[in-house]
Amino acid sequence: MSTPIRVEGLSKRFGEFEAVKGVTFTAEAGSITALLGPSGSGKSTVLRVIAGLDAPTSGRIWMGDEEQTFKTVQERRVGFVFQHYSLFRHMNVAQNIAFGLSVRKVPKHDQRKRVDELLELVQLSGFRDRYPDQLSGGQRQRVALARALAPRPKVLLLDEPFGALDARVRQDLRRWLDDLHRELGVTSLLVTHDQDEALELANRVVVMHEGSIEQVGSPNEIYNDPATAFVAGFVGSASVLHGHVVEGHVQFGEHRVGGAGHLEEGTEARAFVRPHDVRVFAGDRTGGSLEATVERITTLGWLSRVMLRLPDGQVLTAELPNDELEGVELGARVWVDLRRARAFQARDAVTAAIVADG
Ligand code: ADP
Ligand code: MG
Repeated sequence: MSTPIRVEGLSKRFGEFEAVKGVTFTAEAGSITALLGPSGSGKSTVLRVIAGLDAPTSGRIWMGDEEQTFKTVQERRVGFVFQHYSLFRHMNVAQNIAFGLSVRKVPKHDQRKRVDELLELVQLSGFRDRYPDQLSGGQRQRVALARALAPRPKVLLLDEPFGALDARVRQDLRRWLDDLHRELGVTSLLVTHDQDEALELANRVVVMHEGSIEQVGSPNEIYNDPATAFVAGFVGSASVLHGHVVEGHVQFGEHRVGGAGHLEEGTEARAFVRPHDVRVFAGDRTGGSLEATVERITTLGWLSRVMLRLPDGQVLTAELPNDELEGVELGARVWVDLRRARAFQARDAVTAAIVADG
């Protein structure tokens, strides 16, 4: 049984500081919703309020038709896994998983049965008698997940659950969580600052910035159709070109790129360009509209990242398959086409540009 989570007008103050400012979204039943944003954007606070670990300053929390706002943690029937919410070190794996069941006074025989099911589910059947310090980081987080799932929660709240693990293990666990979620279908809310994690795992992504929601959408919408400059800069990498709006384009020097049809003529604008939307032509001018000089080439395995300097001094980054690099070498003059750009008002783009450049 899965239940949607609805967060309505949620605000949270710590003294004078407003950490969460009127956040509203729904996590659909049975789906994975990611809360994505940089550190300090208020993600964990939202999750803690949903879990009942913190009270909101204002706003309401629902699970299905039932309001949760004034319920205790126990009454809410949520399972949570936090990066720092570690296992009980003096309990073995089976005891850790059974913890929520023994608190609820589930009969011993049923506890044992449930623990066996969960050990199998998280693929740790041979590990029931081990203690946490005899497990790898990835195994520990799988036990933490089994512990969270044991009492059959209505929703699962995950706060950077793989945050402390190294890149390879994270990747494996992500795939594993994806499979597990397909099997269980429990409504899950995943907090992460890692855009890859959000785009890969979530059905819907809620992008947060400074306590507010910037955009809610599918991974595809967030990446390809960012609603704000912040989202364009934070999700995926992008070069930011400074210019002003001329006939639906952002004009800089003698060049212009599209994507500014929604902006007022003459205003200052920033065009965000994804590295894979930049095409580079070497040699005589057979294609490409912008002239550029190759300043740096970095290999990324089968791709190369090419840093280009435009005549007006701005920098543009391209990513090309290595077999399209012919003639694209350090110091070479090349021609550049931008397949796609997305423009925003300059004042909206300031923080986003900092993120995108970083
Ligand atoms: P995130 O999870 O996105 O990194 P948090 O929700 O943890 O962000 O925090 C949002 C902001 O609220 C931060 O600026 C943080 O310092 C502040 N904050 C969080 N918890 C507290 C608290 N208990 N007291 C004071 N400030 C807090
Ligand atoms: Mg956090």
